[in-house]
Amino acid sequence: MEKQRRKIEIRGIVQGVGFRPTVYRFAKKHNLKGSVFNDSKGVTLDIEGHREDINSFLEELKKNPPPLSSIEKTLSKKLPLKKFREFKIIESKEQKEKTTLVSPDIATCKDCQKELLDTEDRRYLYPFINCTNCGPRFTITKELPYDRKNTTMKKFKMCEQCRSEYENPANRRFHAQPDACGDCGPRLELLDSKGKKIKGNPIDKTTEFLKEGKIVAVKGLGGFHLACNAKDIKAVKTLRKRKIRPYKPLALMAKDTSVISKFVHVSNKEKKLLISPRAPIILLKKKQDCILPANIAPNNNFLGFMLPYTPLHLLLFQKLEVLIMTSGNKRDEPIAFDNEEAVKRLCAIADYFLVHNRDIWIQADDSIARIADGKVLLLRRGRGYAPGPLRSPVKSKKKIIGFGAHKHNTFSISRGDEIFVSHYIGETDNLETIKAFERGIKHFINFFDIPPDIAVVDLHPEYEATKFGKKWAEKNKKPLIEVQHHHAHIASCLADNHLDEKVIGVAWDGTGYGADGKIWGGEFLIADLENYERKAHLQYIPLPGAEMAVKEPWRMGAVYLYKTFGKDFLKLNIEFTEKLDTKKWAVVEKMIDKGVNSPETSSIGRLFDAVASILGVKDFITYQGQAAIELEMIAKEIGGGFYEFDIQEENDIYVINPSGVIGSIIKDIKSKVNIDAISMKFHISLAEMIVKVSSLLRKETGIDKICLSGGVFQNMILRKETTKKLLKEKFEVYNHAKLPPNDGGIGAGQAAIAMKRLG
Ligand SMILES: [Zn+2]
Ligand SMILES: [Zn+2]
Repeated sequence: MEKQRRKIEIRGIVQGVGFRPTVYRFAKKHNLKGSVFNDSKGVTLDIEGHREDINSFLEELKKNPPPLSSIEKTLSKKLPLKKFREFKIIESKEQKEKTTLVSPDIATCKDCQKELLDTEDRRYLYPFINCTNCGPRFTITKELPYDRKNTTMKKFKMCEQCRSEYENPANRRFHAQPDACGDCGPRLELLDSKGKKIKGNPIDKTTEFLKEGKIVAVKGLGGFHLACNAKDIKAVKTLRKRKIRPYKPLALMAKDTSVISKFVHVSNKEKKLLISPRAPIILLKKKQDCILPANIAPNNNFLGFMLPYTPLHLLLFQKLEVLIMTSGNKRDEPIAFDNEEAVKRLCAIADYFLVHNRDIWIQADDSIARIADGKVLLLRRGRGYAPGPLRSPVKSKKKIIGFGAHKHNTFSISRGDEIFVSHYIGETDNLETIKAFERGIKHFINFFDIPPDIAVVDLHPEYEATKFGKKWAEKNKKPLIEVQHHHAHIASCLADNHLDEKVIGVAWDGTGYGADGKIWGGEFLIADLENYERKAHLQYIPLPGAEMAVKEPWRMGAVYLYKTFGKDFLKLNIEFTEKLDTKKWAVVEKMIDKGVNSPETSSIGRLFDAVASILGVKDFITYQGQAAIELEMIAKEIGGGFYEFDIQEENDIYVINPSGVIGSIIKDIKSKVNIDAISMKFHISLAEMIVKVSSLLRKETGIDKICLSGGVFQNMILRKETTKKLLKEKFEVYNHAKLPPNDGGIGAGQAAIAMKRLG
């Protein structure tokens, strides 16, 4: 039999995921000699053996790779024989270029779960059990390569037993960097709201307090959660009051999928995602007989559930069934992740703090996902996903940083064809978030060793991310590119779908700074990664009070009625006009007529607000998109059809005039049509607008590929109806999956545009 020696380079997520021990085991099994080692680009094998053995070894590795690894490329080269006598794992070499991908944080694996509850195991009930297949990664790693000394585990000296596991290639904990046990590893502590230690078993005490209705801040993988008993309506109420979060849905964690199934519908795909190593929060449809208090997610048909993903969570759930587990932050601030800082920031919310001394180096909020069209749609990309890169359809020699937008901020840094999308930063409108944003950027640049050559910012001069990006570019003497918000949305959708061509881009959201200085948000672009042309939009309408009009949907309701019926709308004799505060309206009317603080907008988000308010669904909101979400939630299928609207052509741009929609809605209200049905018909009308305008654009350009992006496409009815109608008209439809349709994808879109432009 022919003997061979081959050098095999494997690229992808292959470090910190137990790749080398797996290779070691398989190599032994297939009688191969040689070595395996990590290098700057991934894992390299230098193997010798019979050709058949090498092939069957490679086949087995391909078929059964370590569960968390992801092989992207394998390069194989024949070398002259060397007659190796054994197979060994060679220690990491110092690396010049840190091109390795680091794994995200991973939920506790089955083996560790078993050991955790095994009275015979030496890690029985140890809240920090982990192995090569699970545990913290990204959130504890200060820099690459991923070695213990570069993580926050550095301060814990391994005991002899842990060390022998760590050094044994056949062991599941071989080179598991956060490996520890009760003798040598991190420990739990329970503190009161003043930061004073409470005696007793922290887990038992915490369980007791939660059962009593107390609020406990629990330190997790990427930061603190605020936990309380989800079945206790009073506890939930208290949490909302203290967090100043009256309506925004709260996330839940339940013991297992059978508990979750008591409250919500869980499909096979949803179940698979729930129990996956990434363990995101998944939005699941409430059951009719769901007994959980309605104040967990008021006026919402969905509940966000996740499963316990750390040993600490698993221990808490030994005696509990379902908990609220919402991000440990004050309203709009980033998640707290440092013990002292958490006590300082959250002492007015939490009664107790369950903390430990394994530091979190960089925070990561829970990711939020849902299954849409049978596929995973990420709405928030955080723990479990960050900092996994997105493969861009274009490559660039330049390293680029996209600073992102204002809401749902994430930034992105690119190298070659990889776009590293940051963890979720949040709303950059308070000091804490801006600090987290700046710290995140510094960390990413250092972590991946990607000093950016070019900065990309949103066109909006007042976004904090824009201001910071401009300052950064100036300080580092790097060129700056400004990208229009909705172009970045479409670029993010192109990148998400690995497309590099011209498409019809439908970018619908609440707010984005337009090239004409107006507020865009109902846009049809002919766009590719390089450039865009605005071809159609929703008709401009004044936004009286600017930001105030966003917070008070009644203003948009009144503006649209005013625009449709003139001053006479006050005599419409519907509930909306009956309860309208005429004094307030008089002020607003003056603002519009005189053009005072009333910028013009083409935002679809504001049209949603208007309809929600006219139907009596919501006049004032307490979180972004609330009126639109509640309008979506009430929509129910009825007879079908849609409300008519006009499309006019002005200076080569199609302008959609929705007055017909508003007029017909009033007619329906007057004839006592149920608002559930009106809401559905409104959704269908919007889908129809997209089809009509897209058909006009196809006629003009011959393009039949469509990208749907922007926060409005988080609306599942709109996404479904639009996609269905477009497919029926033989369009090729591209929706988001790996990147959120909301502003969380903007940073990646900005980077993709610069990559294409600069080559
Ligand atoms: Zn494990
Ligand atoms: Zn130990």
